[in-house]
Amino acid sequence: MPASVIIVSGPSGAGKGTIVAAARTLVASPVRLAVSATTRAARPGEVDGEDYFFLSSAAFELLLEEGGLVEHTRFAGGSYGTLEGQIAAPLGAGESVIVECEAEGARAIRDRFPSVSVFIAPPSLRALETRLRGRATETEETLARRLAAAEDQMATAAEYDHLIVNDDPDAAASALAALITATTLGPLMEVR
Ligand code: 5GP
Repeated sequence: MPASVIIVSGPSGAGKGTIVAAARTLVASPVRLAVSATTRAARPGEVDGEDYFFLSSAAFELLLEEGGLVEHTRFAGGSYGTLEGQIAAPLGAGESVIVECEAEGARAIRDRFPSVSVFIAPPSLRALETRLRGRATETEETLARRLAAAEDQMATAAEYDHLIVNDDPDAAASALAALITATTLGPLMEVR
């Protein structure tokens, strides 16, 4: 398998970020994670340039006009986009890269790059709401938007190559690590 974009999607609050971070510690060879651009405010603990590039709306629009984004979308009141360099650089160097994005972004990336896609689902929408409330980073308004978007996102699960149900974060991380290993070590897995 050529160097690929490993697309990870799933509703907000399904545990994508935690599972991706855990899976990256489990794989033998490090795999990059693309840092997206967003106009939403940083949550406590999030670091500019690590979790996202946090941009003003004007800076985001400029980036878009300059062709710096592979894809972009609006989600729960904010703009999000994948930076061209975050994908082109690793793929150009023969390395796979993980991209976390929602369904529209996943479709755009699938159309342009070799990819393997994974959908991370919560055990139920009720569990998702409990998790989002527990995170306490959302206002009632953005929580309602994220829950509505979650239902739409769940309806896209069948578009993905793989589905991981996050009812046990350790098991979910192991499953994702196995997929990452299979993708990044593809040619080495030939039996001689
Ligand atoms: P959050 O605000 O919770 O970090 O992300 C909200 C949603 O935006 C999640 O579904 C996340 O996967 C998605 N997202 C994050 N970065 C990107 C991106 O670069 N492009 C697209 N299309 N979606 C993104």
